Amino acid sequence: MSKLRTAVVLARTRWGWRPRTRAALERYQQRRIRAHLRFLRARSPFYADVRTLAEAPVMDKQTMMANFDALNTVGVRRAEAEALALAAERSRDFTPMLGNVAVGLSSGTSGHRGLFLVSPADRDAWAGTVLALTLPPGLVGHRIALFLRANNALYESVRSRLVDFRYFDLTVPVGQHLADLVEYRPTILVAPPSVLRLLAGAGSRLGGLQRVYSVAEVLDEGEAESLARAFGQQHLHQLYQCTEGFLARTCEHGVLHLNEQHVLIEPEWLDERRFTPVVTDFSRRTQPIVRYRLNDVLVARRGPCPCGSVLRAIERIEGRADDTLLLDGRVVFADLVSRAVIAADGFTEYAVVQTGPDRLQVQLDELAAAPAVGVELDRLWQRLGLAAPAVEFVPYAADPGVKRRRVRRDWQGTADAAVRDRRVGDRPSGPGGAVR
Ligand SMILES: [Zn+2]
Repeated sequence: MSKLRTAVVLARTRWGWRPRTRAALERYQQRRIRAHLRFLRARSPFYADVRTLAEAPVMDKQTMMANFDALNTVGVRRAEAEALALAAERSRDFTPMLGNVAVGLSSGTSGHRGLFLVSPADRDAWAGTVLALTLPPGLVGHRIALFLRANNALYESVRSRLVDFRYFDLTVPVGQHLADLVEYRPTILVAPPSVLRLLAGAGSRLGGLQRVYSVAEVLDEGEAESLARAFGQQHLHQLYQCTEGFLARTCEHGVLHLNEQHVLIEPEWLDERRFTPVVTDFSRRTQPIVRYRLNDVLVARRGPCPCGSVLRAIERIEGRADDTLLLDGRVVFADLVSRAVIAADGFTEYAVVQTGPDRLQVQLDELAAAPAVGVELDRLWQRLGLAAPAVEFVPYAADPGVKRRRVRRDWQGTADAAVRDRRVGDRPSGPGGAVR
């Protein structure tokens, strides 16, 4: 990676020009978009004739995947990228590259699976932005503990003299990481809320923590306060980062603000406060994100934030509220289940519902894909060292509710709380044997 490129973006983002009025922000956005469209007209066959943003069609995952070959600016074909990404997913090797372009797979909340391409320049810019916007005031010497599904090459790229990283693999029971985590003495902890819940009991043993970031999943209401307390923080911080970009983060008051200096977010209003974001990233060049509609629902904040930022403030994010499953006495994260399901082909819509202690219902819009999905799930149970639950395949039933959950637990185990506690302290028997 280019440390210089990252450092330039970091400095510009952290100490550079900041819009003081909404009008100044919007003028800046329009200028960046014009320049970006100029680039895309020259490099992306799909955007060859698009002169203004209004002329660009609104995209979703399906249209983006259908036009993948024409959209990207580096001539990568969907078939080759997909084959590479799937092979990597199965081998748990998370650095598949086509030339110098990294290829990733996303599960998301709609459609089947998405593919994304990231060039070194995209990645360095991303790293600079993330560091600039997420590190506490004392910039240097941070130790960041990351609880993530995969050690994404993106995150790896942020490692530098400024910060050290330790990656904690979510396919391993969280309790097993606890001793390492305490010993690492992180200054920043980054994890999905389902993991923060499991770690909360150990919060008092993590004395040097300066920030705790919740990522990847939606927080339940009121949960931000209780988690902040558990980790001895004034506020729980949040990063709203997905395949489609780095979309929002909390200010020093713990309020989420859209990252409007880097992306344009056109709201499609659902009512007075709730909207679906349509995202245009000014700088993602390899795989353009132009008027891309996310499936999340954002709730605008009433009134201005005390921090005084002109960036739109968000009360909360709805959607992506997948549940964790409880199988064989263990917590299984929704993301792992989604990834396993989408590794199979032949369907578009799906849902996974836990209906009993060892029963899963898998809904598919194409039941012919059931055997292939079954194989992928078996691989997952094997990898996690779990007794395979009974899996029943049924036709997909669209959920009219506002919150779409791909992975849901309808069965409420009475041992729920007990299981959670046990997971933090010691470890139930699982793969690898000995309980310490
Ligand atoms: Zn604020």
